[in-house]
Amino acid sequence: MRKQIAAANWKMNLTYQEAENLLDKIVSEQYNLTENQKVIFAVPAPYLDMAEGKIANQAHMFIAAQNVYSKKSGAYTGEISVTMLQSIEVDHAIIGHSERREYFGETNQLLAEKVNICIAADITPIFCCGEALPVREVNQQNSYVSRQLEESLFHLSAQQIEKVVIAYEPVWAIGTGKTASSEQAQEMHAFIRNELATKYGKEVADRISILYGGSVKASNAKEIFSQPDVDGGLVGGASLVAEEFITIIKSLKV
Ligand code: PEP
Repeated sequence: MRKQIAAANWKMNLTYQEAENLLDKIVSEQYNLTENQKVIFAVPAPYLDMAEGKIANQAHMFIAAQNVYSKKSGAYTGEISVTMLQSIEVDHAIIGHSERREYFGETNQLLAEKVNICIAADITPIFCCGEALPVREVNQQNSYVSRQLEESLFHLSAQQIEKVVIAYEPVWAIGTGKTASSEQAQEMHAFIRNELATKYGKEVADRISILYGGSVKASNAKEIFSQPDVDGGLVGGASLVAEEFITIIKSLKV
């Protein structure tokens, strides 16, 4: 069975003290998480080590970097390497968030390199894909997402792609308060799974978690997560409010 995942993306928010308080509140709640469920916190880089310490004794909880560089080490001022993440036991990284694509010019080709270096380092890439509004308006979202998968993921072997978590995040729904309807989410998730099945076979496709991201909150999480091909969510704004994210975690399928 593929994992059901609630992943928080804190982006560039919170002071160190606020981050500690938020994690303390979320982690101290009772969840009874099953083997099939995961909670991931993608925290700002300066807080990774602190966050890793906070979840160290929590089963099924993990810390993620929000980005990682495509090279192992060297003269790349300001970047973070997989080796650095490994050295503090961070085992997940968001790759290709739409904000990285839009503001930092990350291309499908660069993201393929980032995915590769994560997999080689045994760090789970949470690979983001999704179309902007003009693409959806002309009903080209399937071919757009298909190309993102093709150019950044489909060079991987079947064994490698099973290590990837995919997050479908329609850009028009990120931070806008507009959510894709659960039907729109299911439709795209089924399309992505079908693309995976065509390339790698149904068994492999059925083992890959596909998260939905875009204005998920406590009030809509259960409905969105209940869709058969939606395996949880990547959550921005609502993950900064303890009560919201706690409810989102509790909305995961078991
Ligand atoms: C995100 O940043 O990945 C995201 C989905 O943000 P929000 O939940 O705020 O739309």
